[in-house]
Amino acid sequence: MSDKYIVSARKYRPSTFRSVVGQQSLTHTLKTAIASGRLAHAYLFCGPRGVGKTTCARIFAKTINCEHPTAEGEACNECPSCKAFNEQRSYNINELDAASNNSVDNIRDLTEQVRIPPQTGRFRVFIID
Ligand SMILES: [Zn+2]
Repeated sequence: MSDKYIVSARKYRPSTFRSVVGQQSLTHTLKTAIASGRLAHAYLFCGPRGVGKTTCARIFAKTINCEHPTAEGEACNECPSCKAFNEQRSYNINELDAASNNSVDNIRDLTEQVRIPPQTGRFRVFIID
């Protein structure tokens, strides 16, 4: 993978539901859930590689922690929580590569971590990829 590729992949990573291309029904469902305040405790994103499952999960994690979400259920991208997410320094998002972290001990660690409430923001989100 060349440096050029990494840069453009970062540059064009969508930061709002509106900018995710080709997943209107999913992003509509998630925005409606956020706008109505009715969130499930877990969501399962299914589909082939490259369609935007992890991207949508990251945007969702950011948006439910946003301090000033828009009426359409989008993140403001300006509050401290959004900035922490966008700069990848939020403590409220934990990504686990489930392909290589699938032992009993890994899952035991995960269930331990899930017990700890967020120190700032409203939700801690675990993305199990
Ligand atoms: Zn925000």
